[in-house]
Amino acid sequence: MSSLTGKPVSFWIDSTATTQYPALPNDIAVDVAIVGAGIIGITAAVRLKQAGKTVALIESKHLSTGASGHTTAKITSLHSLIYADLIKDLGEEKARLYAESNEAGIAQVVEWIEQEQIDCDFSRQNAYTFAESTENVDKVEAEAKAAISLGLPASFVKDTTLPFPIAGAVKFENQAQFHVRKYLLHLAKKIPGEGSYIFENTQVRGVENGTPCTIETDRGTLSAQEVILASNLPMLDRGLFFAKSYPKRSYIVGASIARDRAPEGMFIGTGENYRSIRTTPYNGDVLLLIGGEGHKVGEETQTEENYRKLEDYARDRFGIDTCDYRWSSQDMVSFDNLPYIGNLTPADNHVYVATGMSLWGMSKGTMAGMLLSDLILGIENPWAELYDSLRATPFVSQTSIKENMDVAIRWVGDRVKGLNKDLSDVAKGEGKLVTVDGDKVAAYRDESGTLHTVSALCTHLNCIVNWNSAEKSWDCPCHGGRFSCDGKVLNGPPLADLEKVDLS
Ligand SMILES: Cc1cc2nc3c(=O)[nH]c(=O)nc-3n(C[C@H](O)[C@H](O)[C@H](O)COP(=O)(O)OP(=O)(O)OC[C@H]3O[C@@H](n4cnc5c(N)ncnc54)[C@H](O)[C@@H]3O)c2cc1C
Repeated sequence: MSSLTGKPVSFWIDSTATTQYPALPNDIAVDVAIVGAGIIGITAAVRLKQAGKTVALIESKHLSTGASGHTTAKITSLHSLIYADLIKDLGEEKARLYAESNEAGIAQVVEWIEQEQIDCDFSRQNAYTFAESTENVDKVEAEAKAAISLGLPASFVKDTTLPFPIAGAVKFENQAQFHVRKYLLHLAKKIPGEGSYIFENTQVRGVENGTPCTIETDRGTLSAQEVILASNLPMLDRGLFFAKSYPKRSYIVGASIARDRAPEGMFIGTGENYRSIRTTPYNGDVLLLIGGEGHKVGEETQTEENYRKLEDYARDRFGIDTCDYRWSSQDMVSFDNLPYIGNLTPADNHVYVATGMSLWGMSKGTMAGMLLSDLILGIENPWAELYDSLRATPFVSQTSIKENMDVAIRWVGDRVKGLNKDLSDVAKGEGKLVTVDGDKVAAYRDESGTLHTVSALCTHLNCIVNWNSAEKSWDCPCHGGRFSCDGKVLNGPPLADLEKVDLS
């Protein structure tokens, strides 16, 4: 089988410099501490600073290298197919608030880009959800009707600039796209100074609610009147958000394409094997991004195969020979289509959270940053109730029970399935689970032949990690924790690395 093409790195990260903010140097005090520097954290930090608060934005790695550095970066209130369901499940009033709040998120992005003259390859684009076969066309038509009834700039169309026929599409006019890191890194420059800070390479490990709150990190302690957890999934388990949502991983390939062959607009398909499509300026030409093959983190999947399917699609549909980039990332999906934005628990009246953007966090994440800053500033916000993190959750709905059952089944299954016992057959560049003296060990042999052995128990809730061959990572099937081949935390919720196992 041919090897995968394309650099295994996000185009947004590859085409921007790594930020170099200091780690937390000593104990400090601010009005608001914000944990996590993705689109939610940066948006909230900038708004709060603009409102006169001192803030500390604390990031365990570097700014915008989580989901926000690996997104497709369509800024749109068209979220695949959602409005017909929202009207059916929640009623027209709540569906309208969802629409308005996302349009407000887009407007905030545009306002800052214009005000700050941010050079971030921003362009206005129409967004489409398309059905290739007649099978899904009714849903698309119903979505167009629902969106129109809510006042969104929607219509049902049969023609697009895609180089293949479609059965129909819902089109939203005047949506937008950008280079997400050019936008976020520019915005972040507004944060430090006048008592406000950005700290990188600083991992938050605990938060105690109080007046003030105490934030414990691997570098020291901070105190803050209010704390926002914008770490994608909160690293604190006490709000149970890991059980109210699930992590979905999705893949993207990027290929250079002549401008006259590139489609105009942003697209997402329907049905099981849907594709997400957009373009972005690239070396004087255009980079075509194709996304898809999403699945729950840790689910049995051939990661190389996922990229190959996207490459095949680029080849078949757009005549692409090779890809320039490939990358993947994950986001939390909520069970009722709505993000959770508000307090972490009823007792945590000074600790706030935003999670469950369900792979549409450019408009929603911006909106979350706006809503969180309003909550902290005591400004009444019309969206607060809709997204209330403490709402009666569908924790016990059919879907969430099934999702949680998958987790439980997986947990039990992982524990009983026969593990390979022989370390000698771990090939170079490969990872395998082995049993050593009854302990489950995750063993990885690097290209020089050195074996790296760590405990296979995820440090979050002790599920057993799985080897992910394309990303060369250990992925936890339960709540989305991911670790590097030698056991270092890549994605939350785990805070600690996999424990080293010395087999000598
Ligand atoms: C493949 C893919 C494509 C997508 N495409 C789109 C799209 O086209 N349009 C759209 O609207 N949305 C899209 N999304 C969704 C969107 O990218 C996300 O919803 C959004 O980026 C989430 O932002 P965030 O701030 O919650 O998380 P992140 O960007 O992940 O930020 C969280 C940060 O917290 C840090 N952190 C974690 N734990 C700690 C800790 N203990 N201490 C300190 N820091 C910590 C992490 O390092 C990270 O930088 C896509 C998502 C994926 C995965």
